[in-house]
Amino acid sequence: MGKALIIGAGGVASVTVHKCCQNPDVFEEICIASRTKSKCDALKEKLDGGRTKISTAQLDADNVDEIIALINDFKPDVVINLALPYQDLTIMDACLATKVHYVDTANYEPLDTAKFEYKWQWAYREKFKEAGITALLGSGFDPGVTGVFSAYALKHHFDEIHYIDILDANAGDHGHHFATNFNPEINIREITSKGRYFEDGKFVETEPMEIKRVYNFPEIGQKDMYLLYHEELESLALNIPGIKRIRFFMTFSEKYLTHLRVLENVGMTSIEPINFEGKEIVPIQFLKAILPDPASLGPRTKGKTNIGCIFKGIKDGKEKTYYLYNVCDHQECYKEVGSQAISYTTGVPAMIGAMMIMTKKWNKAGVYNIEEFDPDPFMEELNKWGLPWKESFNPDMVD
Ligand code: NDP
Repeated sequence: MGKALIIGAGGVASVTVHKCCQNPDVFEEICIASRTKSKCDALKEKLDGGRTKISTAQLDADNVDEIIALINDFKPDVVINLALPYQDLTIMDACLATKVHYVDTANYEPLDTAKFEYKWQWAYREKFKEAGITALLGSGFDPGVTGVFSAYALKHHFDEIHYIDILDANAGDHGHHFATNFNPEINIREITSKGRYFEDGKFVETEPMEIKRVYNFPEIGQKDMYLLYHEELESLALNIPGIKRIRFFMTFSEKYLTHLRVLENVGMTSIEPINFEGKEIVPIQFLKAILPDPASLGPRTKGKTNIGCIFKGIKDGKEKTYYLYNVCDHQECYKEVGSQAISYTTGVPAMIGAMMIMTKKWNKAGVYNIEEFDPDPFMEELNKWGLPWKESFNPDMVD
């Protein structure tokens, strides 16, 4: 059917590349392009020989002209951005210049702030519409599948949704004292920021990790979870009419939080550059360099993730609750694609999002968050590509 340019060759990109190669009817040809070409070549070597033709390229995705040149050379139908949030705008600029569709899994972040806001990317709405191309924002799991779940719940189960709690639980154990499951810089930025949730038309701020709940998750059991801000809250607050409150909770063990508290107290999680022996370094980037590479956790991680949304609202004049979730097993993921479940649960929806655009099931010009599209074809593909969803009509609620 067509060609995809995949930018980035890290944990998530590796899963997406595997999944595109499992889906050669849609992804006839892919090009893997990233800063370190050897990582792209290693992926090609592992997956070459199937029906999907693979090429690789060295690319600095901070440089718009370089991206434009690569797009003009490879001529993809869609660019799947699986580099870091810092590259979103340069890649969107290159897509605009070449009129190619764009998909990502995380909102743009300027290097010097950590705001988790869509405003920079939403500012491209008119330009993408005029160019006749689609930018699909946030096609990972959260954001991503959580938005699709919300659109599906609204379409099929509610007249109005009033409350959404997004619960992200990871019961995986990698055996290290401390490691992050995906890019440590992004992960730590997320956790050390203040919490925020949406209520009655505005965002309410909390101290980091101030709000704790205990929840008994299907298939993984009871876990401590903490309220965080997460970027999909911003778009869901706009796109789910009548919504009164949306919160996001993520599980963390006491051990993980203790390590993090110490690192934070000594300044190791700071994003402010410091001078070290005549060289400017950013503490959190240095920390990233000494922590285990998330990609190395795959073979060691045992246990499951459970990510989903609990909805409460009105159907036919009556109050209704509904829970949609996915359970993913770290070791099963590793057996299939050589990555743990965190990368898997992001990399599969990135492939499906690109597939929605390439097959024209999602076909509207402009910049859109994922919940703005028809959820049904995406939900169907989740079941086919390794992330089957489950539902409960009588879930425990979070108080
Ligand atoms: P990794 O750090 O493992 O991979 C990032 C890749 O991008 C690396 O290959 C890196 O190159 C490459 N890269 C970084 N900067 C550039 C650049 N300037 N030019 C070209 N390539 C570059 O991250 P992950 O795979 O864990 O995450 C990828 C994305 O997915 C992130 O944006 C993350 O926020 C997002 N994510 C989304 C989730 C969701 O559910 N929505 C969940 C988890 C992650 P090099 O190899 O040289 O470092």
